[in-house]
This record gives sequence, structure tokens and C-alpha cells, in this order.
Amino acid sequence: MTRTEKWDRRFLNLAKEISTWSKDPSTQVGAVIVDSDGIIIATGYNGFPRRLSDAPELYADREKKYKRVVHAELNAILHTAIDIPKFSTLYVTPIPPCTECTKAILTKEGIFRVVIGLGNGTWCAKWDAENKIAEEMMSEAGVHRTVYPLEDSCLLGSNVQPSEFEDIVGNRVTLGDVVCEAQERSTLSVSQWNTLVRDDSDYAEALIQMAVNDLHITPVEK
Ligand SMILES: [Zn+2]
Repeated sequence: MTRTEKWDRRFLNLAKEISTWSKDPSTQVGAVIVDSDGIIIATGYNGFPRRLSDAPELYADREKKYKRVVHAELNAILHTAIDIPKFSTLYVTPIPPCTECTKAILTKEGIFRVVIGLGNGTWCAKWDAENKIAEEMMSEAGVHRTVYPLEDSCLLGSNVQPSEFEDIVGNRVTLGDVVCEAQERSTLSVSQWNTLVRDDSDYAEALIQMAVNDLHITPVEK
């Protein structure tokens, strides 16, 4: 495991913990902004603005909730009292930034990288189009996007090595003990996978390559 991956996992675990602070009963998202020295600049989770009531009945009313809620990534950005330092990273889990949050991310010049801990079972097909546009926006602005598949609340084991990327059936692949599959809009063939995972590459690099090549995977079963 590279040093980058080690710290990515640590900050994604922190974002996961912060997501549990959200009072939203259906979706809990956590975000952390970290500078290039690994100093935490700000954190955020999805919730209502500070000066509004946090009453459970307001979260139960979906229509009202969607209008009032501030997403985790935007909250983290709003919590930054100063300009975000250059080469900062935004961590978010368990779903990728929407286009609204992406606009905020791209307005703040300091964020050069977004690391997403993609949760198991949290992805809806209806988000595909939204996610695609957000990805295009980040790519156009030169923001690097890294995706780590998460298994429930746990990150993949830290000992996954390229030699374990063997069990490929169709568009399914086993990462350690987690079976993943490519999302509908992409297919992950054996030859593509073999091209991505070479002897000299490591797990994080393979995931980055998959993100670059638009091959996003989601854990489906143990
Ligand atoms: Zn958002």
C-alpha cells in the first residue's frame, strides 16, 4: 500500500465517522478537507443550516428536507474560514459530489483532488447522469478524482495486492474478499483489467487508472 493510499483510507474512515453525525435518517454523508501537509482544514456532514431547526419531523418531510439540507461537501467548504490552501484534498463518503457541490468545489481554487469512498448499496441508477456531469466538470477543471469502493462501513482490507485481482468473471472482479462489478454504463473486461493491473502497479494506482478510464466499480457481495 502506498503512503497516499494509507492516508486516503484514514481520511475516508474519518469522513465515514463524521457522516454518522448527520440527523438525516435516510442518507448520511461525511466530508473532510485536508491540506497538502495532511492538516484538517474543515469537516462537514449533510444537515440543515445552523440557524434552522433540526427537528426529526423536518427530515421526515422529504420535499422540505431537500430544500433545506446542505450537502456534506458544501458544508465543509462553508466551514472554511480562510481560503483553502493550494493542493488540498476533499474526502467524501459514501456517495460522490453532486453537481451543486462540484460547483462549490471548483469555485474554491485550493481543492485539486477529490477522493470518494463509494459505499456499498448506496448507489442509485438515477444518479448516473448527475455523476457523469459532475465528473466532466471536475475533469475540465483539472481536479483529480479517486474512487475507493467501500464495503458497508469498512474500507477494503489494507493488504489487497495485484496478485489477488485474479477472479474475474464477465464484468465482475474480486478485490481481496469483496466481489465488485462495473456499473451499468461501463464494462470491465478481463483484458481491460489486465491492462490496468500490471505487475509494477499497486492497488491505489489501479483504482486511479480505473477512475481515469471511467471504469467505476461497486462492491456487490461478499
Ligand atoms: Zn452535493
